Amino acid sequence: MSDQKPVIIAHRGASGYLPEHTLPAKALAYAMGADYLEQDVVATRDDELLVMHDIHVDRVTNVADVFPGRARDDGRFYVRDFDLAELRRLSVWERMNPDGTAVYPERFPARSGSFRVHTLGAEIELIRGLNASTGRVAGIYPEIKRPAWHKEQGVDIAPIMLELLTREGYTTRDDPVFLQCFDAAEVRRLREELKTDLKLIQLIGDNSWKESTTDYHALRTDAGLDEIARVADGIGPWLEQLYVVDDGRPRSTGLVERAHARGLAVHPYTFRMDSLPEGFASFDGLVGFVIGELGADGLFTDFPDLARRALPA
Ligand code: CA
Repeated sequence: MSDQKPVIIAHRGASGYLPEHTLPAKALAYAMGADYLEQDVVATRDDELLVMHDIHVDRVTNVADVFPGRARDDGRFYVRDFDLAELRRLSVWERMNPDGTAVYPERFPARSGSFRVHTLGAEIELIRGLNASTGRVAGIYPEIKRPAWHKEQGVDIAPIMLELLTREGYTTRDDPVFLQCFDAAEVRRLREELKTDLKLIQLIGDNSWKESTTDYHALRTDAGLDEIARVADGIGPWLEQLYVVDDGRPRSTGLVERAHARGLAVHPYTFRMDSLPEGFASFDGLVGFVIGELGADGLFTDFPDLARRALPA
């Protein structure tokens, strides 16, 4: 894996510059030279595959204004409770905190712009169109969000997504696509039961996030990595699982080496110029350490242009 050039994965698009998961954010990421564009995928009430980071729609749209009274008892608005036609009426905005303030105040101005939601199919059409018109090939990097939750809500995303990808010509390991999921049971199912031949990435989170019932501590043990390597092609760890900061200096935890020893690629998340982790004074320093020193095979970033510039020659 490490003999190939590291890949730049545009995290939700060029989301450092335009509202995440909008088509303009994807087009900009493409123009900035991203190798892969990421899609988070959730299901609408009419079983359409929507590109959106959360199962909720309220932190990135004006849903509360357009559809008052459609929240669940927890006060949240769920993608699953709306048909695609309804969701298309929403304005998509830069991500907000629960109190309505911007998560990243220096990014695209809050509550402005004429942006709309779109489906996975529409985004693939955009990327394939750009591949045709530019002559460069960028890949897709879809994530199945919360598969167990979706099944409880009456929809099984994986087969619907695989059918779409097959229709679009993404069928083999050599095609420019990585399919990713936090749920280890779902990654295993994709390979063993649904028999996909696509490259699979096991995302590794922190147990406190409650992203799935997967034990992310166990996944990072030798036995856990052995198990991942049976079905997947790589891991997508949280940056902070790759190193510890000792006396102000980052030192490897050995996770990259142990993954590589099992033939697994390593694509850590998330490289943000405006939210640097402890131990790093600059974006270039972070990229240089994780790619140049640790030897990761790619990175998820909100800033594909800066990542391209920072990559070691
Ligand atoms: Ca994601």
